Amino acid sequence: MSVAFISHSDCLLHDLGPDHPECPARLHAINDRLIASGLEMALRQFDAPQVERALLERVHDPTYVAHILDDLPEEGRLWLDVDTAVSKAGVCSALHAAGAAVVGVDLVMRGEVQVAFCAVRPPGHHAGWAASGGFCIFNNVAIAATHAFEAYGLERIAVVDFDAHHGNGTEELFADDPRLLFCSSFEHPLYPFCGVGTHSDHVVNVPLDGGITGAVFRERVAERWLPALERFAPQLMLVSAGFDGHAEDDMSHLRLREPDYRWATQRIKTIAERHAQGRIVSVLEGGYALSALGRSVAAHIDVLIGGDGAG
Ligand SMILES: [Zn+2]
Repeated sequence: MSVAFISHSDCLLHDLGPDHPECPARLHAINDRLIASGLEMALRQFDAPQVERALLERVHDPTYVAHILDDLPEEGRLWLDVDTAVSKAGVCSALHAAGAAVVGVDLVMRGEVQVAFCAVRPPGHHAGWAASGGFCIFNNVAIAATHAFEAYGLERIAVVDFDAHHGNGTEELFADDPRLLFCSSFEHPLYPFCGVGTHSDHVVNVPLDGGITGAVFRERVAERWLPALERFAPQLMLVSAGFDGHAEDDMSHLRLREPDYRWATQRIKTIAERHAQGRIVSVLEGGYALSALGRSVAAHIDVLIGGDGAG
């Protein structure tokens, strides 16, 4: 199967300071693992352009976009919230990250590839209409979904988010849009401390207790996400692919392992093949333990390519 790997060297520019977990080394860890495993040979590499401002302004409050694009100091960082800052160079990372997700949609919708993985930073799923959060500036997956609705006239898109943290930004942005089914699993209670009180037929939130292993994750996903996704029959699957629920990642207390990410990816792929002509655009979110991140992304991509999803 033809799989695109979309990134840009400018995604390395975003710098939150020494010892910050959301660091450029995350992308190096992914690249190193893909090369070492030989998976890189099976991927088609694409450079991500910067997202267009007009699209950003349809997903986020134009005042918020202007604050980020126009108010940046020449030197130093602009703090957007307690966790999230951006500099002149770092905003390039954010623009390319969103642009990667848009190109991913274009590639799969035009049939140039069936699946795309966007190795980008900063992550996006905590960014809402007018707010950053949890290292996220622009909501890459929400931007991809908006582009897919507008440019290709899709009527049903599913976003699956298996990051350890609830994708509150994505939920907020599509709260009133039944064309998008949002399926999120996350540790609760944990940042951003929401997602359990949602009552919507197009949001399927699966809170998980800290300390649970993959067996519980699989059971809950199989019970909650899969029937909802089957009923919804998405025309495109977007994935907020966060790997900070890995047992080696201290950003959460979940105890997931590579076989669990393989399993989840295979389930996503099966739904996409049944309903969406196999179309998947997966966008990196969290994942901060570098070795575990590299291995987990490799496992995810291996299944996207067509490797064994068992385990
Ligand atoms: Zn996370």
